[in-house]
Amino acid sequence: MQEWERILRRENAQCEACARRFQDGDAAISALEWSGGAFLRRDLCAACASGSTSTAFATWKRRIGIKNESGPPKLDVAYLTEFLKRLDRETDVPSRRMAYIVALLLIRRRALEQLPSPSENSLRVRLRKEEREFTIEVPVLDGPTVAAIEEDLAKVFKLEPAV
Ligand SMILES: [Zn+2]
Repeated sequence: MQEWERILRRENAQCEACARRFQDGDAAISALEWSGGAFLRRDLCAACASGSTSTAFATWKRRIGIKNESGPPKLDVAYLTEFLKRLDRETDVPSRRMAYIVALLLIRRRALEQLPSPSENSLRVRLRKEEREFTIEVPVLDGPTVAAIEEDLAKVFKLEPAV
């Protein structure tokens, strides 16, 4: 999943909406979107970004020409929760797999409560804050693969270690 990091680090020289080249000192807004089972990053100028990043599940601002050591903001439980809700509507395999991983992360952070599983191949969880329940199929992944993906997610999204 180094692909995620590559997507986050990649920087465009121009706004993807109006094609204006960024100048030193300009504010650029980067939006990370989940679409068709893959992450997409869009870099927009401030004018184009206002109002057009609402479908992104993470956005961050950077200044062109100024080294920003802090990188994208930490994705917290609220972001992950929204991400899970969005993934819950998707039926493609990568999205279902991601839903499972995100659910595991949220269980570890106690945002989701695990309920008795309806079957061997599915996970039943309840969102504590909203009393909303999800059923998520357990994807065909071996343990080390799941652990590696979780670790990558946590690193890329700067999640605090689970308590
Ligand atoms: Zn623009």
